[in-house]
Amino acid sequence: MAVREIRLEGDPILKKISREVTNIDERTLQILDDMVETMYAADGLGLAAVQVGILRRLVVIDIGQGPIKMINPKITKREGMTISREGCLSVPDVNGMVRRPKTVSVEYTDIEGKTVTIENAQGLLKKALCHELDHLDGIVYTDVAEVVFDMDDIEKYEELYDVKPVCRGTNSYDYETELHEVN
Ligand SMILES: [Zn+2]
Repeated sequence: MAVREIRLEGDPILKKISREVTNIDERTLQILDDMVETMYAADGLGLAAVQVGILRRLVVIDIGQGPIKMINPKITKREGMTISREGCLSVPDVNGMVRRPKTVSVEYTDIEGKTVTIENAQGLLKKALCHELDHLDGIVYTDVAEVVFDMDDIEKYEELYDVKPVCRGTNSYDYETELHEVN
């Protein structure tokens, strides 16, 4: 395994759409292993292949329950709406407030070629799924965030958006609140 270089905001590859993976070969498995190692080295919760410069629909996520390696993941159901804080390994030192569905279901192919479904993911897993799958379509969270702010200003935005922590950690994904719709 190898830690790969993470592409940063401003790199045009992050805006490109990744291609379907048609063959789960040695190279695909190697890329997934490298992505897991790169994610851990950067203390992240998720990583899309495009973030290491590879335009294939591959995502890895670990929210503290072990790595999930996903091939051609897609969202099959969305329900509700929340707003929460997100960060990205490709966009250092800032966070943003992003609207996401309250729950999503996702279908993907695993490394053995089997179809796996995650039903009604919520919270951190939901957020990581939405964030990483957006990367596959060339969308960085800063493109869709309501506001992006320097980490030094975090308390101001927590108060403004009434965002409460759902779990406490050092990562940058760990806040969520129900979205309060306003007229
Ligand atoms: Zn990201």
